[in-house]
Amino acid sequence: MHLSSSIQEILYVLPMNDTMISMVDTEEDNAYVVKMRRHFHEHPELSFEEVQTSRRIREELEKLGLEVKSVGKTGLVADITGSPGKTVALRADIDALPVTEENVEAFASKNKGVMHACGHDAHIAMLLGVARKLVREKGKLHGTVRLIFQAAEEKPPGGAVEFIHEGYLRNVDAIVGQHVISTIPSGYVATYPTVAMANADEFRVRIHGRGGHGSEPDKAIDALLIASYFVNILQSIVSRMTPAFKPAVVTVGTLNSGYRYNIIAAHAELTGTVRTFDAGIRTKVRSEIERLLSGLCKAYGATYEYDYIEGYPALVNNPSVTAVIDQVASEVVGRDHVIHPDPAMGGEDFSYFTKEIPGSFYFLGTGNEEKKITSPNHSPTFSVDEDALKFGTEIMYRSALKLLG
Ligand code: MN
Repeated sequence: MHLSSSIQEILYVLPMNDTMISMVDTEEDNAYVVKMRRHFHEHPELSFEEVQTSRRIREELEKLGLEVKSVGKTGLVADITGSPGKTVALRADIDALPVTEENVEAFASKNKGVMHACGHDAHIAMLLGVARKLVREKGKLHGTVRLIFQAAEEKPPGGAVEFIHEGYLRNVDAIVGQHVISTIPSGYVATYPTVAMANADEFRVRIHGRGGHGSEPDKAIDALLIASYFVNILQSIVSRMTPAFKPAVVTVGTLNSGYRYNIIAAHAELTGTVRTFDAGIRTKVRSEIERLLSGLCKAYGATYEYDYIEGYPALVNNPSVTAVIDQVASEVVGRDHVIHPDPAMGGEDFSYFTKEIPGSFYFLGTGNEEKKITSPNHSPTFSVDEDALKFGTEIMYRSALKLLG
């Protein structure tokens, strides 16, 4: 694979220093990363079931002479150590999604109904690329780089906590993670000084009334009608019960109720999601949902069940670690290609790491309109512009070196 002229120019104008790598190595590294990405793309596995994925990652790391340890069932950790110094961790998540791929490339998913629709295949490949570079430069490495290949980002409770429970964050000075995203063009990087992603929670509600004949509503308790009111008044939480400067989203995603056109529904079932950044607002929204639900059901003589399932906590980056990523990303893609969008309302279990130690999570643009790579993450036609992977590899690599000092 050949470098595009723009990245060649960028690399050539950079001042040469210890961390600078030769162009020949870069081309080989890029080809390796693309090859690996295609391999993992072809063989996706669901969260906590990444057995073959984990085995292949282990093989690749062992080929580099690294000692690899298992974490949980399918997570892996490996250290690359030079002279004594700090420890910096780099994280890639490794799981795929229950999506049937609609792309038709030769390396499309061979595991029917499972797809790397969130680009974790690219995350694995880039971190393996970083490992190769670091092993080659080990003589000049001051400190330890800990490679974290984490299971099950897509499925709470997620695989990140396994590394924390097993002590792999102890004495780690900083951690960096990245995510490919198709809504940002290839060649751009998005960083977040503090808040990057939201508390991402789920709720389930059941309303129990009393069924009856559609012609005699006075003898029944209409669960469907109560559920309809509930969907409406739920929106008053954000507009009337939380401060305007503290963002929150309340969404009802499903409402199921009823039997037939002339029967009054005895039961209704709703599910939805709550997104917040602030811990206090999270608690407030959780309790306001139940307050409205219980008041409404009481008013109409119905009963209810309410489950609130906390997902991943908000992802809050460390500003100093982010500043380092900003700096190295500016070197790699150019200063005006490093952007700082508003936080995303999605969830990410990298947040558990940044609750423990200073860390930062950034987005690597992998969308490309010219190549028709525009489908959103999680869609059956999601794809990544492979030409952007060299940027992600280089930024992770340089971030580690810079953070080691
Ligand atoms: Mn993801």
